[in-house]
Amino acid sequence: MGTIAISGSASGIGAATRAMLDANGHTIIGIDLRDAEVIADLTTDEGRHSAVTEVIARCDGVLDGLVSGAGLGPPVPAAMITEVNYFGSQALLAGLRPALAAAQGAAVVQIGSNSSTITPNLPDDLVDAFLAHDRTAITAALDEIGEPFDSAMAYGASKIAITRWCRRQATTDDWVGQGIRLNVIAPGAVQTPLLERGDDDPIYGPLTTQLPVPTGRGAPEDIATWITFMLTPAARFACGSVIFVDGGSDALIRTDDWPSTFSM
Ligand code: NAD
Repeated sequence: MGTIAISGSASGIGAATRAMLDANGHTIIGIDLRDAEVIADLTTDEGRHSAVTEVIARCDGVLDGLVSGAGLGPPVPAAMITEVNYFGSQALLAGLRPALAAAQGAAVVQIGSNSSTITPNLPDDLVDAFLAHDRTAITAALDEIGEPFDSAMAYGASKIAITRWCRRQATTDDWVGQGIRLNVIAPGAVQTPLLERGDDDPIYGPLTTQLPVPTGRGAPEDIATWITFMLTPAARFACGSVIFVDGGSDALIRTDDWPSTFSM
């Protein structure tokens, strides 16, 4: 039993994860725009700062787990997707790391997406701009793409960037060295309000509804099960892993692209 913070706890995958962890006897600190212990807007620096401060106060500086799941997707404006999916996640991960370290055996799950592998034509310079925290370059790259597809590109690039950030950090002294396991669960099409907003959009609807999902779409619980497992000691050997739980879309679309060979 421990204290777990969950961003995006009010809906979809976050809410399903909250329910599972709650049923397992954990103390939950939800972070969301509504219906949460910590009400915070992760699009702003102030919101991120108050989220971190309030979580630390509520857990007395010792946090056993973090699920960073708050997110927005197309057709929400690209700038908001950028702020929540990358900068919001990154601020929670970095800001809560000392409290996670204090737990001596904490686990973190970042929710990524298979959009990080199946979104075609994502510009590398956009991903690099995210990782450099260069908002001017992000805006320039997104402006070059223009509406309406800047939103999908912000989504895919923010998910690649936060996934890479996690992989870069996971193996360092600051994370695994402090006993914190940092991993990414990358869902595919899961029936939630986020996906349904895309389905209902005249431009994105035909794209999201036609995405091939060999098993059929998932339910929030299909992802929550994996997240809750990754928080348990049984997952102790997973570090910097990116686990695709997407009904086969990535395997279908990027079949032979990974694993891949490399030279030294
Ligand atoms: P959802 O819309 O049901 O839940 C997202 C939650 O994030 C909501 O409770 C929302 O209020 C919160 N949120 C949004 N903006 C916020 C802000 N500014 N500040 C604080 N909280 C904010 O969506 P979901 O599908 O459950 O998404 C959860 C995560 O899963 C997201 O990171 C999303 O990118 C990812 N994901 C979802 C799918 C899918 O098909 N549903 C696929 C891949 C990845």
